Amino acid sequence: MNDLLIRGGRVIDPANDLDAPADVAIRDGRIAAVAPSLDPSQARDVIDASGHIVTPGLVDLHTHVYWGVTYWGIEADPVAARSGVTTWVDAGSAGAYSFPGFREFICTASRVRMFGFLNLSAIGLIAPTWEFANLDYCDVDLAIRTVEENRDIIVGIKARIDHNTTRGVGIRPLQLARALADRVALPLMVHIGNGPPPLHEIVDLLRPGDILTHCFTGGTHRLLTDDGRLSPIARELQQRGVLLDIGHGTGSFSYRTAEAALQEGVFPDVISSDIHQLSVQGPMFDLPTTLSKFLNLGMALPDVIDRATRRPALAIGKLELGTLRLGSPGDVAIFRVEEGNYAFFDVDMNKRQGNRRLVCTTTVAGGTVLPRVPERPPAIWAILPDHQRHNAPNASHRTTPP
Ligand SMILES: [Zn+2]
Repeated sequence: MNDLLIRGGRVIDPANDLDAPADVAIRDGRIAAVAPSLDPSQARDVIDASGHIVTPGLVDLHTHVYWGVTYWGIEADPVAARSGVTTWVDAGSAGAYSFPGFREFICTASRVRMFGFLNLSAIGLIAPTWEFANLDYCDVDLAIRTVEENRDIIVGIKARIDHNTTRGVGIRPLQLARALADRVALPLMVHIGNGPPPLHEIVDLLRPGDILTHCFTGGTHRLLTDDGRLSPIARELQQRGVLLDIGHGTGSFSYRTAEAALQEGVFPDVISSDIHQLSVQGPMFDLPTTLSKFLNLGMALPDVIDRATRRPALAIGKLELGTLRLGSPGDVAIFRVEEGNYAFFDVDMNKRQGNRRLVCTTTVAGGTVLPRVPERPPAIWAILPDHQRHNAPNASHRTTPP
């Protein structure tokens, strides 16, 4: 007897090279069967997914979920229920001083699966920025001990490198983050935006398996030449095995950069949201909205799903996630692909029309359907920049600040 049967959907599971009509059965919290037709009388609960697509639960490689403690953090469970994201990888919200709380109050307390990149800065992302401006917080030995005590959760090292985070100390924090990542043998996720330090000093320190997040930024670190074409650095990084990750956020997704890349056949390795207190209010909103932007830029649906399931799972070395392989955790997302006329915006509110969008109808985590519950209102400091606040459409479902 199966606990849950998801019937009649189009199943897209890139890790298994599967894109076909199929039923998915879950038993004891794990995937028990995927087949063209499974007997509904052998299941306690049945979800009719006809006309829908069924994917592995999404893996969001860049999130901020340390709510109540950090500037950026949101509560993951309510967003998971409406977005299909069952694995949340926190991108450096916690440093050594705040990691015990992240483990106990966030990872243990959440219904969804969670991992984290440890911030090199021991204070993590308590404040909006400046975490590296005081190098005393860059305690490599303390970070190593934190990793060794939390290897079940920590999947990499995070360093945000831009003019604010590093104010006055240049490339030094990234050199220290490089040394730390090497010592613990984990990938390094580096955020780019606006220099100094300049982009070339940053990419010189990246190694195979590392992640360049905000890869399609429009900031001064953008992967564009002066005449608006894709910088050769983008392809070089991918050839070296460095992963290009979207990390949309509030300041890090530019249609100009994205279009230049796709035009040259350079696709992001991972599509992640960088969901946080601000970006959840729009124009990012959530991972399905971000995926829809790439769908409407011309990427095929299975390729888009691949970059939010198999590939991010691979990036963190968790091959049992982001797939519907037999025996893997019972994490499943169900979507409707709606057709119509939709406006999408990058972070500078440049608009693109699209004719398809992914809307999550059901999120199953560990074999259980996540209940739709209200989200917390934005934190009192989380006020969108004017240009986004006044133009963001579809924001009415959120409580926007005055
Ligand atoms: Zn981020």
